[in-house]
Amino acid sequence: MKSLQLTEFGKPLQWKELEKPEPKGSEVLLKVDACGVCHSDLHIWEGYYELGDDERMYIADRGVNLPMTMGHEVVGTVDAAGPDAKTVKNGDTRLIYPWIGCGNCKYCNTDRMQMCLSPKSLGVFTDGGYSDYILIPDERYLVNIDGLKPENTCSYACAGLTAYSGLKKIMPLEKDETLVIIGAGGLGLMAIQVVRELTPANVIVVDIDDKKLETARQIGDFATINSKKEDVVEAVMAQTENRGTSAVIDFVNTTETSSGAFSMLQKNGMMVMIGLFGGKLTFSNPVATLKNLTIRGSYTGSLTELRELIDIVRDKKLKTIPVQTYPLEKADDILQKVKGGDIVGRAVVKPS
Ligand SMILES: [Zn+2]
Ligand SMILES: [Zn+2]
Repeated sequence: MKSLQLTEFGKPLQWKELEKPEPKGSEVLLKVDACGVCHSDLHIWEGYYELGDDERMYIADRGVNLPMTMGHEVVGTVDAAGPDAKTVKNGDTRLIYPWIGCGNCKYCNTDRMQMCLSPKSLGVFTDGGYSDYILIPDERYLVNIDGLKPENTCSYACAGLTAYSGLKKIMPLEKDETLVIIGAGGLGLMAIQVVRELTPANVIVVDIDDKKLETARQIGDFATINSKKEDVVEAVMAQTENRGTSAVIDFVNTTETSSGAFSMLQKNGMMVMIGLFGGKLTFSNPVATLKNLTIRGSYTGSLTELRELIDIVRDKKLKTIPVQTYPLEKADDILQKVKGGDIVGRAVVKPS
């Protein structure tokens, strides 16, 4: 099999001819149909996360060993299943849950594999989908997507799941409450697409790009704020009769956006930090106490949540976010486009 591998942080990906694995036990080998290019692929490729104040967290220190095949948003067709795999057969098309753990800890045993302390996430710690084939350690990580297109569905494994799990953490929200969604990139658009299935609340979408805000308005009936042109806190206050917002989900999560998010929260409000763009939040501790605020992070989501999300997408026939498809050979160029913020919706690669 041919894989496009990360062999050195920050350097062009390299083609490697690898032996096609034969699945053992309940392992499954899939032929890759489509693989989303995620913003976190860019961080893995660069080799670090920005922590704010010029500090960095290095990927190599988190247990990522090179060479490694990136790509964690994968749909594939079953090519071969191990002798103990009972739920899939050759030719089945499946979405892969990539946030795999050790399989034997309190998190893995309670459907929170994404929190495992010995993570084996596909495309992050073990080989992922920038390849023509991908090996999955167990059939239970495969999600049935019958009736859905691979290129439109692959990004639910990360972008969609992260948005959905983040939204679920702030529910329930009533009709007379406000939710602010910061960032209308891949994740933000996924949240916008599914939010109406979770709450009738007033939703305000914030971004610095009018094109992305326009895309948000095409998906649903949302108010929008361009934070490059307006003071976002003032604008939210104006739109909520000075009450502020019950919840903010911050898909950007820089020093600037998180501080705005904190300032616009009303009593009992919650902000969920998701973006990995880097930064630091500074706030007055008594304000958090007096307003009874919750500030929390959210990282990907569970296998059950991914199955729930796919059921919603299928049953409610959700409008898909815009997807641009490229040959896998273009992965390096696409990572640069992602870096420049030039992708509306999601870029997806397909092996030729
Ligand atoms: Zn575990
Ligand atoms: Zn991702």
